[in-house]
Parts: sequence; C-alpha cells; structure tokens
Amino acid sequence: MPYPEFLRVGQVNYPIEYKPVLKTTSSVRIKNGVVLLKLSRFAQGGKREEIVEKFLKWAEKRLEKVEKLDFINPEYEDGGRIVTHNKIYELTVDVLPGINSKALLREGHFLKIRLNSFLTEAERKKKIKFLAERKIMEDQTPYLKEVLEELNQMHFQERVNDVRFKRTNGRFGSCSSKRNINISYRLLFAPREVFRYVCVHELSHLKEFNHSARFWAWVETAMPNYKEAEKWLRGRGFLLG
Ligand SMILES: [Zn+2]
Repeated sequence: MPYPEFLRVGQVNYPIEYKPVLKTTSSVRIKNGVVLLKLSRFAQGGKREEIVEKFLKWAEKRLEKVEKLDFINPEYEDGGRIVTHNKIYELTVDVLPGINSKALLREGHFLKIRLNSFLTEAERKKKIKFLAERKIMEDQTPYLKEVLEELNQMHFQERVNDVRFKRTNGRFGSCSSKRNINISYRLLFAPREVFRYVCVHELSHLKEFNHSARFWAWVETAMPNYKEAEKWLRGRGFLLG
C-alpha cells in the first residue's frame, strides 16, 4: 500500500523515505530534513502500518517542537527556489532526448537543469539535486573563500591551504592537518551567523587541533556569541536538507 510521501508540519513538507531493512527491529530518525523510516522486513501487513503510523506521529511531535524555521530548504524541482545568503536561484528542469544531463547557470541566478529523457522518475529526482548542488557549490566557492579570508585576517592570521564546500551528511565542517578546510554545503541554507560560526570553528582548529579550553577561547574571541550558533546547530541542524 502507498505510504505518504511527505509529512506536513506547520508550513513545511518534510519528505519521508522508507527503507526496508533485514533487521528484526524498525527505526525512525530525522536527518538532513528527511524523515527516514527503516522498516524491518519481518514486520508485514497491519503490523507494518502500525509501525509507520507510530513513527510518523513521533516525527510530527519532534518537528512541532522546532520553532518557526528561520531558513528555507532548497527546492530541487522544476520551478523551485533555492535561497542562499547572497542570492536566490530559480530552478527550471528540461527533459530532452539524447543529451548529456547537465546544469547551466544563466544571468547569475537562473539555474537550468537539462536531463536526459532516458532517466527514470527516481533517477531524475536524484540527478536534479546532484547537478544543482554541484553548480551552486561552484558558484558559491568565492563567497566561502571571502568569508573565511575575512575572519582569518581579522582574528587568526593563519595559513590556509585549500577551502571547499563538501556534501556532508553529519559534520558541518572539518579542518585537516594539511590546513584544508571543508564546510558543509548545507550551511548555505542556515542563517548567516551559523555559517560564519562553523567557519570560525574550523579556523580555530588551525590554532588548536582539539576541543580544549584554549580552542574555545579562540572561538569566543572571534565570535563572542558563538553559543547561540552552536545551539541552533544542535536544535535545527538536522533539518537542513
Ligand atoms: Zn571542531
């Protein structure tokens, strides 16, 4: 039987994904703005429906606790809008036979996705997201470099090797011993201060490669109210799609 594709809470439709698993237990969690239900293959029929209903109720309660959202998750579909800190991308999708699927950026904010008509509906959805993300990451890298450079010059004066956006699932940022800083692409949709906090956090690791008191002192010097951003990430970070 078909289960709902979205869970509507307030003004927001949260996508629901159902994954059959070979375990005896089922589970639910919310990750990257998606309600993810892992359903045991051993639970069938009415039992399965009961589990789905129970899990969706849990997700609804959990999402109701989140106050009004202060960000808009990207809409990866024809006619969708992708709202970042410095521009709004308008997305259109054309499906054409015999072409290589690709993304084009026109006039700085019209994001045109061309898809090969051989792709199935599920493949199209994935491909739109993949191509749009790649194009936006490319377009927004100068912005990321600018923010990091500004914060670095102001508070750290450290040597940075390379800076990139990454599609990460869990972590919002990382800093390697080679002085490479990666920032999660999803933070482009978080409030600007949260984005800047993660940049400050990773730059502080160039001073202290740990989470010691000295490390946090660097963070606090660069961003005295960083705890608010931390709280935001803990409370809402999981909703960033
Ligand atoms: Zn850290």
